[in-house]
Amino acid sequence: MLLALPDGSQVSGTEVLLHACCAPCSSSVIECMLQNGMRPTVFFCNPNIYPFKEYEIRKEELKRFLREGNVPYFDEEYNHEEWLAKVHGYESEPERGKRCEKCFLFRMLRTAEYAAKHNFRWFTTTLSSSRWKDYNQIVEAGRSAAAVYSGVSFWEQNWRKGGLQQRRAELLREKQFYNQLYCGCEYSLDSAIKKQKR
Ligand code: SF4
Repeated sequence: MLLALPDGSQVSGTEVLLHACCAPCSSSVIECMLQNGMRPTVFFCNPNIYPFKEYEIRKEELKRFLREGNVPYFDEEYNHEEWLAKVHGYESEPERGKRCEKCFLFRMLRTAEYAAKHNFRWFTTTLSSSRWKDYNQIVEAGRSAAAVYSGVSFWEQNWRKGGLQQRRAELLREKQFYNQLYCGCEYSLDSAIKKQKR
């Protein structure tokens, strides 16, 4: 797939900060960026993931994939308590509801802050590559985060399009990524367990 930046600037050689949620969601996005000559730096900021053991597994799986492409990586602090405080009051919301809006905004704000501090003009997220998530909620979170920090813009790329959804599934099998059974937080874990019991 040929990439295009929203302002028409050259893709090849452009440095972009890529918020990555996990290896499966990141794989086809990173592959596509590298094929277009783009230089992504991966930002792993996912304090929503619970328990910590699951967080470590997902992170290590992503790092395994990044090593293959020699892609630079920054690991944000895991502060699950802070994340819990941000979604407080929305614990019983369904997936794609208000809790997820807060969760996306939390992660996009951190990404935009890092982008601003480290002179990245563009940031984007692999969250939008998952068909389980609400694309509009993610775009809204990215725009709101970009509005807080000057000099950075959210790249509103739908990473499911242009054959990337299919490529994601191929890479999932090829690389034998760890099989994630729920979105990430304890609330999504509870609903996955309840569904299994039905
Ligand atoms: S279900 Fe997923 S997106 Fe929604 S709050 Fe939990 S971890 Fe975040």
